[in-house]
Amino acid sequence: MKDQAIFNALAQELKRQRENVELIASENYVSQEVMDVQGSILTNKYAEGYPSKRYYGGCEFVDRVEEIARERAKQLFGAKFVNVQPHSGSQANMGAYRAILKPGAKVLGMNLSHGGHLTHGHPLNFSGKDYEFYEYGVDEKTEMINYEVVRQIALDVKPQLIVAGASAYPRLIDFKKFREIADEVGAYLMVDMAHIAGLVAAGVHPNPVEFAHVVTTTTHKTLRGPRGGMILTNDEEIATKLDKVVFPGIQGGPLMHVIGAKAVSFFEALSDEFVDYQKQVVKNAKVLSDELTKHGLRIVSGGTDNHLLLVDVKSSFGLTGKVAEAVLDRVAITCNKNTIPFDTEKPFVTSGIRLGTPAITTRGFKEAEMVELAGYIARALRSVDDEKELEAIRESVLQLTSRFPLYDA
Ligand code: PLP
Repeated sequence: MKDQAIFNALAQELKRQRENVELIASENYVSQEVMDVQGSILTNKYAEGYPSKRYYGGCEFVDRVEEIARERAKQLFGAKFVNVQPHSGSQANMGAYRAILKPGAKVLGMNLSHGGHLTHGHPLNFSGKDYEFYEYGVDEKTEMINYEVVRQIALDVKPQLIVAGASAYPRLIDFKKFREIADEVGAYLMVDMAHIAGLVAAGVHPNPVEFAHVVTTTTHKTLRGPRGGMILTNDEEIATKLDKVVFPGIQGGPLMHVIGAKAVSFFEALSDEFVDYQKQVVKNAKVLSDELTKHGLRIVSGGTDNHLLLVDVKSSFGLTGKVAEAVLDRVAITCNKNTIPFDTEKPFVTSGIRLGTPAITTRGFKEAEMVELAGYIARALRSVDDEKELEAIRESVLQLTSRFPLYDA
């Protein structure tokens, strides 16, 4: 007996992933090997605790899996200590906060509508409830972080922790400057590198591990592993606290199948091919940004240094992000609406869309495809009410994706 409801939905989702151009900046396509291990018998095993210190018998092989994952992560990011058990990026952040802060502590993080993440102090999120969050944003003119302004806010607020890292910031982040500010005000520095972890691993973005007291990440975005989280540090005292906070503090049994899949993705990330891949991710984002600019779209901060760009569809074409997302979906291009700095629209409407190149680069898209794609995006955004034109664009997009087979064993 097979669960048709779920297997039918799965088949349709595979078709969607094959047909659509995936531009969600936080998504990627994992390798078959990563999926094989994540979908393996490792899911059957309980292993509360850490390698060699488990609360269950029969852990000798999963111990090896977790040890390998830890060693590879340390090698990849040049870290002395790592915890690979967080179930998600949010749990990694919760773990890091709890290892460093007492409830009610002052934290300075990035304004959410300027690029920060929910777990950086949103009032409805645990972070905003458990700690007193203050925010820095980007400069109104440059739309980039102004470190002198961050410094002034930090001097004013005197936080116990400064959080750097974002979900929608298209520029390099200067972690050294953040550390100098943290040192000046006597704060810890945490970097949430969830979005850029793959770029960091490949050396195409500065590595925060050398500057931050603690670094958190997801494993499923540019890093191209299974959905999950991880925490790294070079500080032994923080590492000891972190291990206690993650288990038994906030989690029970680790997801050994996910930790196994994380290990496989780290193995892949240590390869030369992965470095080439990340270089191409950044190149593709730059070409997409330049081409969209040529088509008359305003790119927030004037461009990108990493894997993503924010397009101001409101000042360019008079659209909201919500409408732009829906129109692009109509032509088989998937992205998400996103606030832009100083947005006057609500977060569910927005004036922008966020476009990322990690998934399409995994698929094999290069500069030529970016030029083609930018043309389809601009045409679709100019034709929101023209069903015939949208249908023609959709046909072209489907032809484009059919040239790049996905999961075609
Ligand atoms: N941190 C940042 C910067 C993110 O962008 C995200 C996810 O979007 C997270 C943390 C949270 O990760 P998760 O969705 O795995 O909880």
